[in-house]
Amino acid sequence: MQPQPLVLANWKLNGDRQLVTSMVSALRDAADSLHGVNVGICPPAIYIPALTEACYYDAIGVGVQHISEHPKGAYTGELAVSMVKEFGVDYVLIGHSERRSLYQESDQQVAAKVAQVTSAGLTAVVCVGESEAQREAGETLTVVKAQLAAALQGLAQSSPALLVIAYEPVWAIGTGQTATPEQAQQVHAEIRSWLQQQLGDAGKDITLLYGGSVKPDNAAELFAQADINGGLIGGASLVADDFIAICQAA
Ligand code: PGA
Repeated sequence: MQPQPLVLANWKLNGDRQLVTSMVSALRDAADSLHGVNVGICPPAIYIPALTEACYYDAIGVGVQHISEHPKGAYTGELAVSMVKEFGVDYVLIGHSERRSLYQESDQQVAAKVAQVTSAGLTAVVCVGESEAQREAGETLTVVKAQLAAALQGLAQSSPALLVIAYEPVWAIGTGQTATPEQAQQVHAEIRSWLQQQLGDAGKDITLLYGGSVKPDNAAELFAQADINGGLIGGASLVADDFIAICQAA
């Protein structure tokens, strides 16, 4: 059986309180057309209480874009998993390419965060993907598998059901240059078979998202691929009509 489709909004450093309420009410109005699709929003962390309150009666997941790999201590500016859990967070993004490139988030940190998140019973959404130069050098699968290995190292004793993988080719993020459905499916199929090699049957059930310039006009074709179970949506998740159209395509 295929994993249930999942579409997550990654607002990055965008949005405001108004977008929280307008997005939740637009999703509520569209709820009938979203049966069978899990939908979640990862706003900037400060809006999480507003989001959990706004969607209290709705089937909308709440995610955070970043947590510390430490449980507590002298780490100014950071948030611990226990803290976001208290505020009803379901999903934690880990290893997004912007965190890796702008904040030097390493595979070791990714592993530590996956351990924190999954042992707290939350879902770790681990982002993997190659840069343009790496793709051109034929290194896509080597890069992606090394990133996946870090995620599994962190998963250790926790359930694979708490792991989601988002394949986001760096060259496709925020560039308008989407991977073709065939390019994306090819990597997703490799990810799926690698996960099955490592985890056996549990590898079949891990949700695999595609991210990178997903828009209403390319979502259906991407989500129709055998190993693409939904998407991680940046720019297009800031406009309710676009985000809902993408969720409906899943
Ligand atoms: P994008 O971002 O949809 O704006 O390309 C995706 C992401 O970074 O998760």
